[in-house]
Amino acid sequence: MSLRLTGITLTYPDGDDRLTALDDVTLDVPKGSLTAVVGPSGSGKSSLLAVAATLVTADSGTVTIDGAATTGMRRGELAALRRRAIGIVFQQPNLLPSLTAVEQLQVMARIDGRSPAKARGPAMELLSAVGLAQQAGRRPHQLSGGQRQRLNIARALMNGPTVLLVDEPTSALDHERGAAVIGLLARLTHEQATATVLVTHDHSHLAAADRIADVHDGRLRPRTAAGRDTP
Ligand code: ADP
Ligand code: MG
Repeated sequence: MSLRLTGITLTYPDGDDRLTALDDVTLDVPKGSLTAVVGPSGSGKSSLLAVAATLVTADSGTVTIDGAATTGMRRGELAALRRRAIGIVFQQPNLLPSLTAVEQLQVMARIDGRSPAKARGPAMELLSAVGLAQQAGRRPHQLSGGQRQRLNIARALMNGPTVLLVDEPTSALDHERGAAVIGLLARLTHEQATATVLVTHDHSHLAAADRIADVHDGRLRPRTAAGRDTP
């Protein structure tokens, strides 16, 4: 098991009150599998990813990554864990405008204290895996929206994470390009053996998932195998 959320409750201040964004959420994501999390806007999907990414600390519950509970880890330890073990893909690719595609990936190695020159080979391999070998020398503005999102995914995988967290990666893409990005995520999840959580509001993406969980008002409900047949 490489990502495990147990009994996660997260609240935000809401006037004089507290708003419950996640309500006793438990989720297991094995290595090499993709779990799709679906639910309406405001149901807690991004909050779930933020807690799993250790960017936000839950009020209660535990996040376990590669068998290690993150509860009680210091900020520096969490930052190191995020660099090495967690790949994050946000809705909009926040690529660095002045860097070429291959350099965007090499920078991730540098942040992790490794030589960018030595990282060039692995970076090129990842670019090939996402179909961007020919675009290695291009800057973000010279890429299409779909290519930028594929580059974003390659960058998230650059440090060989065990956990890959993806938040609505197709919201800026048309259906065909969106489906290609989801297919790519499913393939890379299996090839790179990541524990992947894909947040999406698009039900047409669910066929690519190994497991599906519905979230409503902060409560997560895994779908049974039978439930998968009903749209
Ligand atoms: P989703 O990604 O499913 O749209 P979110 O996780 O972003 O849902 O939000 C869940 C709930 O928490 C919503 O009611 C939202 O308004 C609230 N929320 C999210 N982030 C914050 C925040 N930083 N401060 C206060 N409330 C927040
Ligand atoms: Mg969201």
